[in-house]
Amino acid sequence: MEIEIIKAADTEISELILKELDRQRNTIELIASENFTSTAVMATCGTVPTNKYAEGKPGKRFYNGCEVVDEIEIIAQERVKKLFGVEHANVQPHSGAQANMAVLLYVLKPGDKILGMDLSNGGHLTHGSPANFSGMYFDIASYGVDDQGYIDYENVEKVALEHGPKLIICGASAYARTIDFKRFKEIADKAGAFLMADIAHIAGLVATGHHPSPAGYADFITTTTHKTLRGPRGGVVMCSKEHAAGIDKAVFPGLQGGPLEHIIAAKAVAFKEALAPEFKEYSENVVKNAKALARSFVDNGIDLVSGGTDNHLMIIDLRKLDKTGKDISNMLEKIHITANKNTVPNDPKSPFVTSGVRLGTPAITTRGFKEEDMKVIGEIIAEAIKNSEDEQKLAELGKKSLELCAKYPLYPDLTA
Ligand SMILES: *Cc1c(COP(=O)(O)O)cnc(C)c1O
Repeated sequence: MEIEIIKAADTEISELILKELDRQRNTIELIASENFTSTAVMATCGTVPTNKYAEGKPGKRFYNGCEVVDEIEIIAQERVKKLFGVEHANVQPHSGAQANMAVLLYVLKPGDKILGMDLSNGGHLTHGSPANFSGMYFDIASYGVDDQGYIDYENVEKVALEHGPKLIICGASAYARTIDFKRFKEIADKAGAFLMADIAHIAGLVATGHHPSPAGYADFITTTTHKTLRGPRGGVVMCSKEHAAGIDKAVFPGLQGGPLEHIIAAKAVAFKEALAPEFKEYSENVVKNAKALARSFVDNGIDLVSGGTDNHLMIIDLRKLDKTGKDISNMLEKIHITANKNTVPNDPKSPFVTSGVRLGTPAITTRGFKEEDMKVIGEIIAEAIKNSEDEQKLAELGKKSLELCAKYPLYPDLTA
């Protein structure tokens, strides 16, 4: 990190960056959508392609001087195509939400029908929430999970045939179980709908074969690059050659202006890392750690939605304990653990309060945490939930969290 350079220009910001580094170092990061990039990916984000305007696509730009960024963007495209086994990739979306918008813009006209997973059941805002453009400009039908916390495919099919959507969206932000993309494709075919698989959360696991791939089933695959994939913040849209030109046009000029070529360079570096054998081992450990953490919760009397996990995340169900996700996630922050409140299926509480907490293992696995540490984290969190009013007990648990953080130094080589 070029902290000295920043410091010379702006101490107010450099100090806050150092404060954030310190916060990250002294926190057990269990937010399921977060990760720690390599220092190479981070360094690439702070490089000169940030100065370049490159509207358009490689070889077809609206500005001169794009020969070099063209090479960077083509490398990013080729690597991500290889990673997911797809014919076409657009690496320009600034985020996962933009990637999803591009597909909606290409496939739909205002008022067309979408079938997406309900936000309170684990879906994403961009899958048709009334608070998001996807719910404002399109007609929404939704599906959810059954009482056990699993997607009810029979119900998805029933709703799809009833509503005849033009697009079905699968993929989730808070779903701990394997998604059956083949089944979704069969439903989409029956309903005469396009299928979009949003793998924002599970992309890293899909890339390494630790979650089945939607490639070959979904017409469109969207993802973020910063969650399990461990790259810079950003998005990607993938599709077959047939839809390539339409998707590219939807991204630019449909939605965005100039692409962030420095971030695209960092995506390329992250894709190279994800193609390496070590990343396979990483994904394997993410899933192993999640299973170990889930087991620790269950062993310590904490309920989980669906009783466990197949992937990198799990959702604690607090209903039996009569506690809220809001209170518990705030309490956890005091003991150096970050996680976010999350609705549970049929949550009696509002989305601002909730009866659940979502936790994931991608970030702590990057840091080096192992299965035996998951047992300890599960015990710390279970104790903290049960004693959430006992300040002295919480102080003790906070110390235990800090001891674990010290065991696995984060970015030890950053001289900040
Ligand atoms: C995180 C997420 C997104 C959005 O990503 P942003 O980069 O925050 O815009 C989209 N879809 C799903 C399923 C997600 O989990």
